[in-house]
Amino acid sequence: MENYDAIIIGAGPNGLLCGAYLAKAGVKVLLLEKRHEIGGGLITEEITVPNFLHDTHAIYMAMIDYAPAIMDLELDKNIKWVRPEPNMSMHFSDGRALSIYPDYERTSKSIAQFSAKDAKTYLEIGPRFAELTEKFLAPATYKPAVPSFQAVAQLESHEIGREIGEYTGKTPKEIVFDLFESDQVRALFLYAACMWGLDANIEGVSYLVPLLINRASQYRLTIGGAHRLAHWMYKYVYKAGGRAWTSQRVKRIIMENGRASGVELIDGEILKSKIVISSIDPYQTFFKYVGEQNLEPEFVTRVKDYEWESSSHYVYHMALNEAPQFKLGDKYPDLYKTRIHVVGFDTAQELLDHWANVKKGELHETGFNCCFPSIHDPAVAPKGKHTGLMSQHAPYGIKGGDADSWYRERETHGERCVNVLEKFVPNIRKIMLRHYITTPLDIENKFWDMGKGSIKQGAYLPLQMGYLRPNEYCSNYATPVEGLYMCGASTFPGGLVTLGAGYNAAGRIVDDLGIKRWWSKPAIVAKSEELGML
Ligand SMILES: Cc1cc2nc3c(=O)[nH]c(=O)nc-3n(C[C@H](O)[C@H](O)[C@H](O)COP(=O)(O)OP(=O)(O)OC[C@H]3O[C@@H](n4cnc5c(N)ncnc54)[C@H](O)[C@@H]3O)c2cc1C
Repeated sequence: MENYDAIIIGAGPNGLLCGAYLAKAGVKVLLLEKRHEIGGGLITEEITVPNFLHDTHAIYMAMIDYAPAIMDLELDKNIKWVRPEPNMSMHFSDGRALSIYPDYERTSKSIAQFSAKDAKTYLEIGPRFAELTEKFLAPATYKPAVPSFQAVAQLESHEIGREIGEYTGKTPKEIVFDLFESDQVRALFLYAACMWGLDANIEGVSYLVPLLINRASQYRLTIGGAHRLAHWMYKYVYKAGGRAWTSQRVKRIIMENGRASGVELIDGEILKSKIVISSIDPYQTFFKYVGEQNLEPEFVTRVKDYEWESSSHYVYHMALNEAPQFKLGDKYPDLYKTRIHVVGFDTAQELLDHWANVKKGELHETGFNCCFPSIHDPAVAPKGKHTGLMSQHAPYGIKGGDADSWYRERETHGERCVNVLEKFVPNIRKIMLRHYITTPLDIENKFWDMGKGSIKQGAYLPLQMGYLRPNEYCSNYATPVEGLYMCGASTFPGGLVTLGAGYNAAGRIVDDLGIKRWWSKPAIVAKSEELGML
């Protein structure tokens, strides 16, 4: 029987990150991963043609400029990222294109094609959203959340906090529609605000809107593929004596005297540990592995209340024989440098209709975002060849269909997406060598923690965000089960590769274990604390 200090279930970005910080703090760590490879959402695979590398899940890195792990784990010295400019562009069927650059003036100039007023507004809100991000929204990602009454009091004490509070009380649609008058400008900024699944029509989580609009000029691409980031984090675990075992199936979390004290695998092997850390969702953690019989009824009810996201993603990867040619490329040569292209939506209403159709389970010939990573990182494809992907919000359950619907619809729907892309990249069919599709059902099958294809391990709803993520009993990474912690995307600050949840959880865990943190408080957090907002 092996003994560890900490067993972590799941080796995705958050499990690995938490493991790296703990291992360096002297904690004997074992990661147990269900799949044959570590990385979770950080995967780079040859799924179309040999030597074409595709990031099949996380590809757009939103918080690389702020995550403390970049310095703490020397990611900055060992991983390279690029931030292409423009970062995001929307192509319209009237022959115009709108681009977001890191530079406010250039973005404003692009907006001016549609509205002089909106161009002026952007010159105000661009720097302002950057300030809100720098002074509160980014630092708040890297410090555990506090109960809402405390958060509100802290925010109220500062004008930045009050402004964020005002945004929180509006829907993403209201924010974008209040700011901009042009339909095209609204369409792009609404897409930027909701591309990760924020509901355009709900209040309560729109403090994320200024952050996501700010990030639309900042997404990074990991050179060589996103999986490199996972491997570097694992190197850190390994060098400090920790290990990850892949292809492991957990049978149960061992409970002794009401305390989690290890894990039993399905082959009967017992692994004992001082603590167990789950980087996976609350359903598996508590119902499959702890067992309802070991939990208080009120807590069981709260776990049952946890909601998956109401939409997932359909992703179509492409190996291309030549470079894509953009229909609008002659008029807008910068489109050849764009990181994220948004196509197929001419108005904000078309976007809203698309999201409403997804909720109803309907599939239509409509828009999505797409990118061509090899344009920015030629090493991911053979010389002269290219990689590409289209990523669209999609329902988990297709209206009128059964559980197998996606197996039948995957290619039919792919044809709809290629039809749309062809309007903006006319040579796409000619240059396509092969493609590979990931449906919402595939996501759930691959990652058991992404139930119903929920890429963030659970919806962003007011009652399961901040201190309430995943619920008030599991705030701040500890759970009602003694010795059991959580550290994945279902904990604060939530999904995407923000490198936040695993980092915050590691801090909580070393504090509880009485171990001194080897890392320092991030400067942005210290500054925000000085301002009284954190
Ligand atoms: C198609 C797609 C595209 C995405 N695009 C982006 C993007 O561009 N940018 C971005 O930032 N984010 C993106 N995401 C979201 C991002 O991948 C996740 O939010 C992030 O990976 C969450 O990290 P995590 O470590 O909490 O969970 P995960 O990455 O899901 O890792 C959890 C790990 O636990 C394992 N596991 C699950 N259940 C068990 C079990 N019972 N026993 C053992 N192991 C288990 C899983 O196999 C997985 O390896 C995307 C996700 C998908 C699916």
